Amino acid sequence: MEEIPNASCRFCKVTFKTEFGKFGGTEIKVCHSTSVNLSCATKNKDFLGLILSEVCRTVGLIIERDDTKFSSRVYNPCARKIKNLGQLYKFFNEAQSREGILTL
Ligand SMILES: [Zn+2]
Repeated sequence: MEEIPNASCRFCKVTFKTEFGKFGGTEIKVCHSTSVNLSCATKNKDFLGLILSEVCRTVGLIIERDDTKFSSRVYNPCARKIKNLGQLYKFFNEAQSREGILTL
């Protein structure tokens, strides 16, 4: 079976669950909303207006885009880590520009 990159998380490789459910007697594919797209703004309320690949870029991580090789989706807990990373970066960056407290 060919591996579909988007079926798993870009970072932790967890596989996203897809189930089949019945809707009005018709069999339909139900995708659990456990993943977030890396390069699009999402409707997910936890990450509203956030583009995760942009957050990564801000902290100096470049997410290469190649849908044939890499997943463009991340598992929600991983998305949360990226969001936190962005917030932490902003926190330290602001402190640094205000106080000059950090030395590299
Ligand atoms: Zn993950």
